Amino acid sequence: MKHQTGARIAVAGAGALGSATALRLARAGLAVTVFDPAPAGANASGVAAGMLAPVSEALFDPVSRDHLALMRRARDLWPAYAEALGIPLSRAGVRIEGSQAWRAQVGARLVELGLSPGETIMDDWRIEARPALAAMRAAAEQAGAVFRSGEVTHFQAGKLALADGSVAAFDILVLATGPGVRGGRLAPETAVLAPIKGQILRAPPLDPEPAVIRGEGVYLAPGEALAVGATMEAGRDDVSPDASATQALRAAARALRPALDLEAASVEVGVRATTPDGLPLVGWSRTPGVLLAVGARRNGWLFAPLVADMVAAYLTNDNPGPEAAALDARRFEKAWKETQRAGE
Ligand SMILES: Cc1cc2nc3c(=O)[nH]c(=O)nc-3n(C[C@H](O)[C@H](O)[C@H](O)COP(=O)(O)OP(=O)(O)OC[C@H]3O[C@@H](n4cnc5c(N)ncnc54)[C@H](O)[C@@H]3O)c2cc1C
Repeated sequence: MKHQTGARIAVAGAGALGSATALRLARAGLAVTVFDPAPAGANASGVAAGMLAPVSEALFDPVSRDHLALMRRARDLWPAYAEALGIPLSRAGVRIEGSQAWRAQVGARLVELGLSPGETIMDDWRIEARPALAAMRAAAEQAGAVFRSGEVTHFQAGKLALADGSVAAFDILVLATGPGVRGGRLAPETAVLAPIKGQILRAPPLDPEPAVIRGEGVYLAPGEALAVGATMEAGRDDVSPDASATQALRAAARALRPALDLEAASVEVGVRATTPDGLPLVGWSRTPGVLLAVGARRNGWLFAPLVADMVAAYLTNDNPGPEAAALDARRFEKAWKETQRAGE
């Protein structure tokens, strides 16, 4: 039975997860309206380097070390996804550069992950984030999704309230708000989300190098501008550039490419939302009618097509697939309740 087919669906958030979800739902023939108070691309999704990088993430983000297989399966959805939307997908890979000791360390970690210790990681791909977001939105609108400016503040019994005081009738709310909704707001599961501020420099392109260069404490991702990233500032959710936090990044980039002109670089800031295990929350909330698609940490682009497929499956009572347990939106409920009890 496809009992949600006639439902009026609101998606809060027009980042990678919300836009991918809106596209997927609209293409499935569902009535979907996306609300977001921010201009298009003014979010972590717009700022991101666009890497679809299961191996680099397993290598360099300790929280993601155990998720390599899952991240690879998420990445494998990208070739067909990008082709259908006309999004260029770079498969030039990631080249490890730096001191011999550092490269040896990375090689050893690759072996620990069951991979061969080469110096180019062909597993990791890349898209250009802002144009990809625009392509997803355009395709979603073409398929019938409506995008509106507005901040969702409440949802209960089919009624959605916006910050401007207006109320609209919706049956389902998909929460794709990145770090914007936390602390149990709108759904108790958002209590586990934590912000990580990320600053990334955008410099004039250096050479026509198609691969991402990965050094110690920095990556250089080619594109319209060269992206030099990125800081990980746990617990911070402000988006003001802060030169002191980018010092280490600048030094690491200069060590790799002394000719790099970082004086001319602009700084962009985004805030990631993370769960304790680094994987997003995807699925029904304990709050009736609310579906979660949040908490993608450093991998919102990597996970976007997978999350969109899973949200569509939950809404149409289809099988959400093999990642359902790992991404279960309520998987932290028990631990969270225990923490609450301990604090009473
Ligand atoms: C510097 C940096 C580099 C990154 N590089 C990569 C990378 O290379 N590869 C990768 O996969 N990921 C990368 N990431 C992570 C990636 O950007 C995030 O995981 C991803 O953007 C999350 O997408 P999202 O849609 O969940 O959230 P967001 O992009 O944060 O979008 C959430 C949207 O929700 C809106 N919103 C908030 N509250 C409300 C509300 N109440 N009502 C309505 N709307 C609301 C916000 O305005 C926002 O537009 C990077 C992040 C940063 C900061």
